[in-house]
Amino acid sequence: MRAVDVIANKRDGKELTTEEINWFIRAYTAGDVPDYQAAAWLMAVYLQSMNRRETVDLTLAMAHSGEVLDLSDVLGYAVDKHSSGGVGDKTSLVVLPMVAACGVPVAKMSGRGLGFSGGTLDKLESIRGYRVELSREEFTAQVRNVGVVLCGQTADLAPADRLLYALRDVTATVSSLPLIASSIMSKKIAAGANGIVLDVKVGMGAFMRTVEEAKALAQLMVEIGRDAGREMVALISDMNQPLGQAVGNALEVREAIETLRGGGPPDLREHSLVVGAHMLCLARHERGEQAVMAAVAELSQTLANGQALAKFRDLVRAQGGDVSQVDDPDLLPRADLVERIAVPQTGYVAQISAREVGLAALDLGAGREKKADSIDHAVGVISHLRVGDQVKAGDRAFTIHANSRDRLEAARQRLERAVVYREHAQPPLPLFYDLIIG
Ligand code: URA
Repeated sequence: MRAVDVIANKRDGKELTTEEINWFIRAYTAGDVPDYQAAAWLMAVYLQSMNRRETVDLTLAMAHSGEVLDLSDVLGYAVDKHSSGGVGDKTSLVVLPMVAACGVPVAKMSGRGLGFSGGTLDKLESIRGYRVELSREEFTAQVRNVGVVLCGQTADLAPADRLLYALRDVTATVSSLPLIASSIMSKKIAAGANGIVLDVKVGMGAFMRTVEEAKALAQLMVEIGRDAGREMVALISDMNQPLGQAVGNALEVREAIETLRGGGPPDLREHSLVVGAHMLCLARHERGEQAVMAAVAELSQTLANGQALAKFRDLVRAQGGDVSQVDDPDLLPRADLVERIAVPQTGYVAQISAREVGLAALDLGAGREKKADSIDHAVGVISHLRVGDQVKAGDRAFTIHANSRDRLEAARQRLERAVVYREHAQPPLPLFYDLIIG
């Protein structure tokens, strides 16, 4: 087979065969197809798209480009979650301990933040000593002994996706449904999940800007998962405004701990309960609204009785983290400068751009523009407003946590533009728009 023929077939709108897709992914991962041919192929896929069969083939080829974990001997049934990324999304930090506290072990590999969207590993590294890199043996031993593990991807997990994603980033081929869906699902399948809850975000702070786009992506991922023998649930959730109040690594860990203690912002609590409930139902092979409601009640109990927090503590200890920072979040990294921004006018909050709040956190140094950038765990933004709130001039809008005056000013200017106020009452935003079950 020749790469040029596979590229030409896709360029001309033909359906690629399973053999062509398998060959191309194998040859590219082995270094036998150069980046310039892979880039041309990606652009052909971007422009001509792929049908469902091709997308499933691409997903499986990428999943099998490295090690595919089989957790069945450890977990029996492995349940996983994936968020398509957003601003203030610390759901995994709350959900995993809750689900594990209900007796369902969870082993999850997460990623780092890029651009305005945060990453679970960066948040966890706010905790002194927390190790995100575990060997395969440590990973399985921990889920067996502790019931919960939350770490980074092993180097050999879907290496084809790592290579292709880096190429997509610089060839304007990221926003293609088959490429996004196969990228996400290849990693979930390689990580050994039997049941997967997808949290597909939509809105100003998400990849997908409209509910229709998010639904199309979710539907495709659900179909890929099902065709690959996985049980799937996809939630379409709002990312127009940040989830919870805290945006920035240590601030988000603190908020997650407050939520695990039974407090925290109501939207984060409810969002985490719903995601966790679907995970519990998948793991127990239960279906239907009643089962989800019962799971929500069971998970709420773990917040009320301290079991979820105790699981989080176990997780942090097992991965080498300093549990005194869990017991006393004041010991987490803290910024030198803390300043408030006030609401400028009396009225109602019509819009809070999650993207601008995420970019403000980036201005402060909480995230990275390029993969190699280092980050400041202490800095970030607390967003005190929710869309629909009635406010008075002078109320708190944001609190900025900064370590440099210049950065604080940049963030302030951005945050002042991030909110739209109106004189008349504004409807609140829903947490979820839809649910797709595969
Ligand atoms: N997240 C991924 O892992 N891959 C994509 O293509 C987009 C978001």
